[in-house]
Amino acid sequence: RILDKLLFNGYEGYIVGGCVRDSIMGKIPNDWDICTSAKPEVMMNIFREFKVIPTGLKHGTLTIVINNQHFEVTTYRIDKEYVDGRHPNKVEFTNSLKEDLNRRDFTINAMAYNNKEGLIDYYDGLSDIHNKTIRCVGNAFDRFNEDYLRMLRAVRFSAQLEYRLRIETFKAIKKLSKNIIHISKERIRDEVNKILLSQKPSKGIQLLEETRLLEYIIPELQECVGFEQKKPHHDEDVFYHTMRVLDNTEKDLILRLAALLHDIAKPQCFSIDRENTGHFYRHHMKGMELAEKILKRLKYDNNTIKTVKQLIKEHMLKYEITTPRAIKRLINRVGKENIDRLFKLQIADIKGSKAPYKFDNINKAKLVCDKILNEKQPLTLKDLDIDGNDLKALGVSQGKD
Ligand code: ATP
Repeated sequence: RILDKLLFNGYEGYIVGGCVRDSIMGKIPNDWDICTSAKPEVMMNIFREFKVIPTGLKHGTLTIVINNQHFEVTTYRIDKEYVDGRHPNKVEFTNSLKEDLNRRDFTINAMAYNNKEGLIDYYDGLSDIHNKTIRCVGNAFDRFNEDYLRMLRAVRFSAQLEYRLRIETFKAIKKLSKNIIHISKERIRDEVNKILLSQKPSKGIQLLEETRLLEYIIPELQECVGFEQKKPHHDEDVFYHTMRVLDNTEKDLILRLAALLHDIAKPQCFSIDRENTGHFYRHHMKGMELAEKILKRLKYDNNTIKTVKQLIKEHMLKYEITTPRAIKRLINRVGKENIDRLFKLQIADIKGSKAPYKFDNINKAKLVCDKILNEKQPLTLKDLDIDGNDLKALGVSQGKD
């Protein structure tokens, strides 16, 4: 209806950007963006019968609400004179769709479509979709220099869509990576979240590392690269172990943040004496402290920070707890709503590790926990599949447990 109205009134109108890309890929778009040759004041008149929100008139953007759905409609625009590595100082309206598409970041995001003209693809976005490639519109170095956030968007799209970065795009990011510090932490956090919630989050995090963005975003994680531990813990690089644990978790932001940060303190705690892996308490405290520092820096909310810290702390006790009383205390500490996440983190860690740990204790603990949370079913020793020797081995003395 929006496009029809624009065309009926003698203006051009196309759907543009991510929704065209997603439609070509057979995905349902998150949102629908429209671009047009009509200027904002003309649009206000054309769309007067709809609910119109003047979201960014200066930049030619307004939002039209139809049946509670929001459509962003923007006048063709040229962005000029980028000053702070993020925002254009000057915005000029234009009558040329080609010029509008030219300001967009990647070829796959620079296509437009309407029923009359079909697909408009000046910058070969379609062939980049076929080749699964992220490529800048124009010179990669220049485009990233205009807006450094685009570097992180490139990595995020690569992770979300499972596309490769074109070599010039990759090289330009590597060269300019340190400039990511000029981008607001909230923006960085939002992109990191999208990477973490992609199908295979390790791909995006590893690409952050390869492009050198990681050392400016989470330097503590960069320190885990190449940091090896001796048996019986992980006879491998802590970073790659972390990546495997991450991929073993389901799509849940808090769980994935906890997976990403669960071993973050290892380089700092074990660097002096790698064979001494017994400083559990120090490792706990440092792990929580670093997780808090990182999450605060990236402006996560207090609840997320608290939960991730708690999961990291309790996770370290994973192989010890199976008795009902201990599980009850554990539930109290992490909260009913997070206990399931804790077990998932533990299982992901074991699956992602070469260490000779077994699932038995976790499975027992889960069972006890289910019974406690579902009080209707009484817990029996048989459920636990343990006997007096197990209890003695756990250091449990006589008592109700
Ligand atoms: P998603 O909704 O999955 O984040 P998207 O492509 O719709 O993907 P948006 O951030 O909604 O991403 O942006 C809409 C469109 O605006 C993009 O497809 C792109 O054409 C353009 N765009 C967004 N951010 C930038 C940027 N920093 N530089 C250049 N063009 C951009």
